[in-house]
Amino acid sequence: MQSLDVLRRSPTADYVATVINSVFLTPTIKAIRLRLDRDEFSFLPGQSVWPKFEREGRKFSKIYSIASSPSACPEIELCVSRVGWSSAAVQDLAIGQLLPLRGPYGLMTLSELPQRPRLYIAEGSGIAPLKSQIDWLHECGYRHPVWLVQANPETPAQLPYQQHWQQLQQTWSAFHYREAIAQCPEAVVAGQQLNLSEFDVVICAVGDRSDQLQETILALGARLDHLRSEKFIAF
Ligand SMILES: Cc1cc2nc3c(=O)[nH]c(=O)nc-3n(C[C@H](O)[C@H](O)[C@H](O)COP(=O)(O)OP(=O)(O)OC[C@H]3O[C@@H](n4cnc5c(N)ncnc54)[C@H](O)[C@@H]3O)c2cc1C
Repeated sequence: MQSLDVLRRSPTADYVATVINSVFLTPTIKAIRLRLDRDEFSFLPGQSVWPKFEREGRKFSKIYSIASSPSACPEIELCVSRVGWSSAAVQDLAIGQLLPLRGPYGLMTLSELPQRPRLYIAEGSGIAPLKSQIDWLHECGYRHPVWLVQANPETPAQLPYQQHWQQLQQTWSAFHYREAIAQCPEAVVAGQQLNLSEFDVVICAVGDRSDQLQETILALGARLDHLRSEKFIAF
């Protein structure tokens, strides 16, 4: 197990993962728990892996963020929306099935404990890389305020990891969870009256929504040099 507040990432390499759990978080989003074949795998919260697929004799790969904290290595959790062939293939893996993958990859990471309040905004499975960071901050006993505003355009009243966040809010005084159910997340952020110029902001959503969220959050006072975002697109 990786020690809590010291983060390191292993060099990018090939692994074989075994599916150890697979559960629906919402009607379209699943959490898939994997155990990697070697203990040396480590990553920075926010990083991803590329599972490898074979279809009609052709090999290809798609990228998925790791939703669990680095402290769980060599186990990792993926949080996957069912949209097309690859995401359905990951969701349909049976317990015990093997999945070759390569990683870790990605730059929207934390490498040390940050020193400013943090605002996370997620839509749909965009919660995955943010969850890895928030869970890690919680494990480290992080004391600066951490806000999470979450929406899910796929099934607006059902948010992935909703209970996890509700429980975390009850036990971790720095953590503030806001569900964007009948409103868009931008409106929920605006309603909190936060001084966004003091915050590090992290956004993850699908396609153009990531850019739209970023634009609005900047207009609400966030600083560009303290804003990171990731866009889930299909390569
Ligand atoms: C850095 C990065 C990290 C990613 N991490 C995740 C992750 O943790 N979980 C995850 O579910 N996906 C993630 N994705 C998207 C993933 O790589 C695939 O693109 C996605 O699963 C669609 O592949 P597909 O073959 O199933 O469908 P395709 O047929 O290739 O795509 C169908 C359509 O789905 C849209 N789409 C892509 N991703 C999503 C999504 N997540 N939710 C809704 N619509 C989508 C595409 O824009 C496309 O129009 C990530 C993408 C990037 C770039």
